[in-house]
Amino acid sequence: MEDDGSRSEAAGRAAAIVGAGPAGLYALAALVREERFDRIDVFEAAPAPYGLVRYGVAPDHPKTRNISRVLARGFEHTRVRFLGNVSVGRDVTVDELRAGYDAVVVSTGMLGDRRLGIPGEDLPGSYGASELVAWYTGHPEAGDVSLPDGLTSATVIGAGNVALDIARILAKDATALRSTSMPRYVVDALAASTVTDIHLVARRGPAQAKFTSPELHELGALDAVDLVVDPADLVLGPADEEAVAHDRHAKVTVDVCREWAERPATGAPRRIHLHYWRRPARILGDDAVTGIELEPTRPGGEALSLPTQLVVRAIGYHGRPIPGLPFDESSGTIPSQDGRVLNDGATLAGVYVTGWLRRGPTGVIATNRGDANEVAESVLADLDTLPERPSDPDSVDKLLAERGVRVVTWADWLRLEAHEKATGDAAGGDPIVVHDLATALEVIDAAG
Ligand code: NAP
Repeated sequence: MEDDGSRSEAAGRAAAIVGAGPAGLYALAALVREERFDRIDVFEAAPAPYGLVRYGVAPDHPKTRNISRVLARGFEHTRVRFLGNVSVGRDVTVDELRAGYDAVVVSTGMLGDRRLGIPGEDLPGSYGASELVAWYTGHPEAGDVSLPDGLTSATVIGAGNVALDIARILAKDATALRSTSMPRYVVDALAASTVTDIHLVARRGPAQAKFTSPELHELGALDAVDLVVDPADLVLGPADEEAVAHDRHAKVTVDVCREWAERPATGAPRRIHLHYWRRPARILGDDAVTGIELEPTRPGGEALSLPTQLVVRAIGYHGRPIPGLPFDESSGTIPSQDGRVLNDGATLAGVYVTGWLRRGPTGVIATNRGDANEVAESVLADLDTLPERPSDPDSVDKLLAERGVRVVTWADWLRLEAHEKATGDAAGGDPIVVHDLATALEVIDAAG
């Protein structure tokens, strides 16, 4: 038979998925189902799978974190491998993956934060949400986060669910966090927190807030926390009234805020203040954050200057470029068409992107399933026409071995997971996340 550049099924197709969060693992589920690959390797920089399900979903939301059980199913197939603790771009290049695999699906999500671009943003005490979230979920690469000494006032910028998560975690009585997956040193830091006031700052009104209703109700039901809303912020203009009339979500948010505005203060030890129609103009302080200036975003609004020692911007996540792949800095995504990565408008053969890195940082976990199905369709449609791959998938294993990369296998992860469950059981709560890599590897080795 004439060689037409395509290859037979018998050649042994191999796919690499880069990133074991929901985006990657839904893509895995879709690809495994079709049985067109003899081997699917899932690369993950962390020593554990599940991405934002483990290192993003708030520890006090264990039901949401339980989606990991569904995501784990892809690894039940013998032709699927987990290669944890392998960072693509650092331990192995994208080109090396492209040489070893017919298809490479990139699903590393968004690990960085958008910036406000205002003075004082880089002062100690000013954090991006992703830094704080990485800290309280026990991400091994979480930076040096600490609650400022003498913290009484914290300010969270943004009107999305990440802002709500952070406000709630800061406001919650730490006793309630002791039964969560949170690393103990984080619970201890939160237990020692002297914060009394948490300010949530939204640049638009309640009718445009991105909070979802269950999360908003949860905030209102926190023990020992008063909610403070200025009724003046709830005076709506015609466009807002229109939104409330036609959008159930907008109506619920406005109604909940109105109910909070009417609630008498109970003298609770902590307060969450919602400030609508304001954006930060400047973060104050010389060596560390001491305050924040907010400016009004609607006519007649008043500026506000708040003393605060902690500022967290929860204004959206932002992707980071992966060496060897195109990147759109403004959106923080990889340019693509139907999941096929585009380089200057031309398709990069055999390379795909899914999840937040494809569509931007929006949607719930399950949104990634539809996204992954679409991308898997593109992969499968292309499979017979992709160029011959130069090497065997083992070439990547050999490179990792040569470079001394300590690959965490699925069996290793199960050992770490069992350890986390045992420590959680002993404390009468959820599995406790092992937050540092060295300990994770020790636990795995000790159990192996
Ligand atoms: P988000 O929902 O997009 O909210 C971002 C917020 O930041 C918006 O209120 C936005 O205001 C504001 N913002 C953006 N730029 C700003 C600026 N320069 N100055 C001031 N405010 C600014 O994003 P997110 O909270 O990061 O959440 C990401 C996704 O994860 C969402 O889909 C979210 O629902 C999901 N998530 C879900 C849960 C849950 O279900 N429990 C938990 C966490 C995250 P504008 O609207 O005016 O742009």
